[in-house]
Amino acid sequence: MKRKEASVKKNLLKGMPYTKAALNELKIVELKMLASVMSIDSWQKTKAEIVKLIFKEQHELDLLDERLDNFCEMCGNYVAIRQRAHIVSEGDNSRTNILLLCPTCHLFFDTRLKPRLYKALSKAGAKTLPASWKKSIYLQGVGKTG
Ligand SMILES: [Zn+2]
Repeated sequence: MKRKEASVKKNLLKGMPYTKAALNELKIVELKMLASVMSIDSWQKTKAEIVKLIFKEQHELDLLDERLDNFCEMCGNYVAIRQRAHIVSEGDNSRTNILLLCPTCHLFFDTRLKPRLYKALSKAGAKTLPASWKKSIYLQGVGKTG
């Protein structure tokens, strides 16, 4: 069953990007599967609402990433389960703000990479960077000073 679901997902992703008409021809089960792959919340939404969300969101995706099942989007290693890492912690849960990472890369991203990028981009003149990038997640938990 799991295997069948994975192959259905793969075929659905191959069809992207969809026209609105093509999305409307899909079954609700398939639409919900696509929505799930795209981190779109389809809970208690109508078919028309899901079609609208997928149609809008699909152009934001790097489709290559969506087709690489179980590969860490940072190091490229194969992992059984990927973790959902928010790029901007203050941001939303849309796929464009989510990286699917192995546990090692997730930790590296939150503790080392974000603060390094924050420093380098600030130095380069970037003015509106996410506050959550300023300090490692470890240091964010330690008091409010500094
Ligand atoms: Zn990784």
